[in-house]
Amino acid sequence: MSVDLFDKMQMSNSDLGKYREVGHGYYLFPKLEGEIAPIMKFRGKDVLNWSLNNYIGLANHPEVRKADADAAKQWGMAYPMGARMMSGQTSYHEELEQKLADFVSKKRGYLLNYGYQGIVSIIDSLLGRNDVAVYDSDSHASILDGLRLHMGKRYVFQHNDMDSFDKQMQRATKKVEETGGGILVVTEGVFGMEGDLGNLKAITDFKSKYNFRLLVDDAHGFGTMGKTGAGTGEHFGVQDKIDIYFSTFAKAMAGIGAFVAGDPDVINYLQYNMRSQIFAKSLPMPMVIGALKRLDLLINMPELRENLWTIVNALQKGLRKAGFDLRKTESPVTPVFFQGNVAQGTNFLKDLRENFGIFTSIVVYPVVPKGTIMLRIIPTASHTLEHVERTIKAFSEILVKLKAGEYDAEEVTLDV
Ligand code: PMP
Repeated sequence: MSVDLFDKMQMSNSDLGKYREVGHGYYLFPKLEGEIAPIMKFRGKDVLNWSLNNYIGLANHPEVRKADADAAKQWGMAYPMGARMMSGQTSYHEELEQKLADFVSKKRGYLLNYGYQGIVSIIDSLLGRNDVAVYDSDSHASILDGLRLHMGKRYVFQHNDMDSFDKQMQRATKKVEETGGGILVVTEGVFGMEGDLGNLKAITDFKSKYNFRLLVDDAHGFGTMGKTGAGTGEHFGVQDKIDIYFSTFAKAMAGIGAFVAGDPDVINYLQYNMRSQIFAKSLPMPMVIGALKRLDLLINMPELRENLWTIVNALQKGLRKAGFDLRKTESPVTPVFFQGNVAQGTNFLKDLRENFGIFTSIVVYPVVPKGTIMLRIIPTASHTLEHVERTIKAFSEILVKLKAGEYDAEEVTLDV
């Protein structure tokens, strides 16, 4: 028996969709208004905002705003009109690519319109039917979706578990001996949900045991990790062993777009094969010129990154000292774990927003296991130590209330 295709689209059927009725516009799809800054407006009230990936505070930097505005004035949003391969090539695109590549110690770079589509397309164009992928179980959706296009074998290793990696590499190696293909390992520099780092040192050490190429998605590491901000490979001293380095502009670069960098042969190949770039319009000029300015500041103003780490260290140390469970984060991403059901979680989030004036994102089942609630704090260089203190105090108070049963409820409600 057939059904109407749209019958299954009853929102109550999906994991997050069932919260739409009570939560839309509040827990999900909230609107933060005003200039991008630590204090923004939520439903007309000022809130201390820990929910934007504006790591080094570039989003509202006066030089960035000016570069964006000047570029928009000079070029408009339409230029260049066409895909890079056809009519969308400019010297600015090429200049940005070379500067990005130089910064991350790679020979060549190539721009991507979005990180998500870019990484899907990188994986898709690198892997043929006979090739094999080996990837971390906590990989970002864009990596998983790239792998969904892959027609050959893929093996997943347990998150950052090197015994599991070794086992999957043995299977992968056996497989490519049969198929005549090669192996691509995919992992992340910083895992964006929990802030722990990909085990890049251990993985690259396996290069002496197995023949593989390594692709690292460093979305949260670029601009935040490493001595110069060149990312998690730099942090571990293994950047030269990362064959293909990827990052988005959506985080520390406070923009939109992304890039991939590696050896010229590989980047040339990607440039002529990535469907997301061949069949889509080139990044508009204000994005490219704006990204050149952001990169210039990111490289030449290390104090931005130092400010970020001052806030990160104060926040993470303070929360840990106050007894909070932040698991294994070693990056600016600061997850705070609580035990409780979704209804309790949304109740204390509401209290935090309405009575403490603090805005964070909440992560619940199915992203984290049932019975766990995670508040995800993203510190930035623009936050202050006073913001940190206020937040630790507020978190300590809500923890007492949570333990005293003040947020107990069976159902998610919204009565604000
Ligand atoms: N990879 C990771 C690890 C991410 O966190 C994200 C989300 N920004 C992406 C890729 C996708 O990047 P974009 O937002 O540029 O599409």
